[in-house]
Amino acid sequence: MKPAPFVLDTPTSVPEALDLLAEHGYDAKILAGGQSLVPMLNFRLVRPDHLIDINKLTELAYIRLEGDHLALGALTRQADVEDSALVDENAPLISMAIKNIAHRQIRNRGTVGGSLVHNDPSAEMPLTLLCLGAEVRLASVRGTRTVPVSEFILPWLATTAEADELLVEIRIPVQQSGTGIGFHELARRAGDFALAAAATTVRLAADGTVVEASLAACAARVAQKLPTAEAALVGQVPSDEVIAAAAAAAAGEVDPVADIHADADYRRHLVKVLTTRALRDAVDNAKEMK
Ligand SMILES: Cc1cc2nc3c(=O)[nH]c(=O)nc-3n(C[C@H](O)[C@H](O)[C@H](O)COP(=O)(O)OP(=O)(O)OC[C@H]3O[C@@H](n4cnc5c(N)ncnc54)[C@H](O)[C@@H]3O)c2cc1C
Repeated sequence: MKPAPFVLDTPTSVPEALDLLAEHGYDAKILAGGQSLVPMLNFRLVRPDHLIDINKLTELAYIRLEGDHLALGALTRQADVEDSALVDENAPLISMAIKNIAHRQIRNRGTVGGSLVHNDPSAEMPLTLLCLGAEVRLASVRGTRTVPVSEFILPWLATTAEADELLVEIRIPVQQSGTGIGFHELARRAGDFALAAAATTVRLAADGTVVEASLAACAARVAQKLPTAEAALVGQVPSDEVIAAAAAAAAGEVDPVADIHADADYRRHLVKVLTTRALRDAVDNAKEMK
């Protein structure tokens, strides 16, 4: 199928894009890499009157270290993040996970902003950004606001962005020393959306106990943070038994969906297995970092 008719707007500056969004609001869609939006247009799942193509807004394509944050412009291509030494040094969980998004050809076009706003329940960007405590900056003609990713993503491909807002930047806290990372997912074929995934960071004290742990999983209608599993780790030496208890807690608190790809019990089981693997990697990695 082909898209329903629309007017194509090609702003050349952020203020121009914001004016267009203010004018057309709910009748407009932003086009970034097009890797999710174009299929939805072709299937006529969305029928915007205006398509606002932001690909000329090259000022939104950057990777910068700003104090204790890594700033990713919304239009930064996933492949550029994958290749970035700055990202690998300061937010290695992102480097590790982003390779699992589809295939390189798709990552050459797909943007970090588009991935987060599209917010597929299985997507790697919302999951890892949630795990890392990242924030987003949203701009409109009304001003700019900063929102934690935990308050930005909503179930079933929704976010708290208003219709006139443009995601301009993702801000990720720089990884602290002594922190280890782990990421595991299961997809039926390489490049497919995952059936489930787990992401974690673990920071160890000099005596080997866990000072800080962050855990998140994909299996539900939206990526979920797992506070009970985190609490099972903090203050403990991360032995196999402690990791098993945390993974069991993760499986207990996740709220898995059932669909044609997998039932809820299988996804819950996967969360336990993938969390165990991710935690083992993170603990080994944290020991290497010390
Ligand atoms: C075959 C295939 C396999 C895939 N596999 C995976 C996978 O395994 N994991 C995964 O995470 N993704 C996967 N994807 C999706 C891919 O990562 C997309 O690139 C991503 O979901 C959307 O990014 P985009 O830049 O292409 O956004 P677009 O498709 O252009 O836009 C997506 C949505 O975000 C909105 N949007 C985009 N940018 C902004 C902005 N700056 N501010 C506000 N709204 C904005 C658009 O209006 C639209 O609603 C796959 C895609 C394909 C085609």
